[in-house]
Amino acid sequence: MAGLDPDDWRGLRALGHRMLDDMFDRLEHVGDGPVWRPMPGQDRDALRTGLPRRPAPPEEIYARFTALIAPYATGNTHPRFMGWVHGAGTGVGMLAEMLAAGLNANCGGRDHAPIEVEREVIRWAAEMVGLPTTTSGLLVTGSSMANLIAIVTASRARPDGVALRHTGVGARPLVGYAARTAHGCIARAFDICGLGTDSLRLIDTDDAHRMCPQALARAIAADRQAGREPFIVVATAGTVDVGAVDDLETIGAIARDAGLWFHVDGAFGALARLAPRHRAYLDGIEQADSLAFDFHKWAQVPYDAGCVLIRDAGAHAAAFAQTLAYLQREDRGLAGNAPWFCDLGPDLSRGFRALKVWMTLSAYGADRLGEMVDACCAVAAHLAARVEREPDLERLAPVTLNIVCFRVRASDAFNAELVKDLQEAGIAAPSTTTINGRCAIRAAIVNHRTTNADVDALVDAALERARSRS
Ligand SMILES: *Cc1c(COP(=O)(O)O)cnc(C)c1O
Repeated sequence: MAGLDPDDWRGLRALGHRMLDDMFDRLEHVGDGPVWRPMPGQDRDALRTGLPRRPAPPEEIYARFTALIAPYATGNTHPRFMGWVHGAGTGVGMLAEMLAAGLNANCGGRDHAPIEVEREVIRWAAEMVGLPTTTSGLLVTGSSMANLIAIVTASRARPDGVALRHTGVGARPLVGYAARTAHGCIARAFDICGLGTDSLRLIDTDDAHRMCPQALARAIAADRQAGREPFIVVATAGTVDVGAVDDLETIGAIARDAGLWFHVDGAFGALARLAPRHRAYLDGIEQADSLAFDFHKWAQVPYDAGCVLIRDAGAHAAAFAQTLAYLQREDRGLAGNAPWFCDLGPDLSRGFRALKVWMTLSAYGADRLGEMVDACCAVAAHLAARVEREPDLERLAPVTLNIVCFRVRASDAFNAELVKDLQEAGIAAPSTTTINGRCAIRAAIVNHRTTNADVDALVDAALERARSRS
């Protein structure tokens, strides 16, 4: 029995060309259909075939993809998808995914060009936010993983910190700080790395939803007084609920003066550093000891592509590197080219995520991406202004970047049901959050395809439903 390649490549090649054409058709007309459609039970059932034991023709499998999978995707490529914080992708990114899969490179390490591409992408990322180009880093699944890696590195960059790799954190009273509005993955990182979520102090925020610097300073002092060991301050550049940006200069200065690691979670907000009209909100990001952000959100690289940057390359390697006989580094040959990316995070085998980032940044350029970020913020400003003009609507939070939280002047239950109705009707896909105890309709404009007309359609549909209710 031979390998898995076809005897005759012509059939698969023709199918590949058809897939490419179909996907370009889909992207070209992505705004025509509903944003999202719920997957019917019979189609869910149809996917439950049990393990296939015998070969099937790729054409048949593709027909199943077309019928059962493609129609029921998340919808984040659609211009009226505004829920959560989702990037929309690009045609260039899609092609890059295909090329990367064709090379099928393992970017855990070794001496090959894909490693050099990832190193270059990390240098570009550092340049984007004003960190030195000697900054270490790697591409990961997303900001959840990037934040985890930064927090682990920070905990091991303490005096005797590297010893924790052998002894475990045990009774070491390490504590860290983030605003109440920090993303849930920060607490999760404290949980996963054994520090425990109680060791993450959640600092109060001001009226603008930003971390209160005085409260941070007081919390650090109180922990020191009590004999605990503060080690990290996590600021957020672009909070997930309202898009607020912590005062990075002030928070960074407090961290530095207290001898603490200054980490920034800039999952989507970091991209605003490229945006001429919004970059000033991120002043101070260049002071960070580490930064987590996503290329798959505002940079429009297809999922998944997160990035962690760590200013002190030595501290990064000291936190993760291992020496193992079966991963011996050599001075030449395929096992050369140390350090390897597997020394900088938990993954050994790693895909070639860097290619889609490299191709996206190459195709559009940082300036064009920055203009796109400004354009998203302008759409958000248009939505906020419209909300303020409509007597039946109420804005619930200030709009700094690209997130608008508002509500119909009706009960929380009405607003929550309204969002589900809009999603199920395929008209628009905002999400919800809670602002000052009230249910908010939340529109996050992270999508380069979303226009003023799209957010107006959201408002029109919301108002129509509100009126037909009364
Ligand atoms: C999305 C987000 C995260 C988590 O990033 P993933 O890529 O989904 O893992 C963390 N922090 C903030 C502020 C986010 O918006």
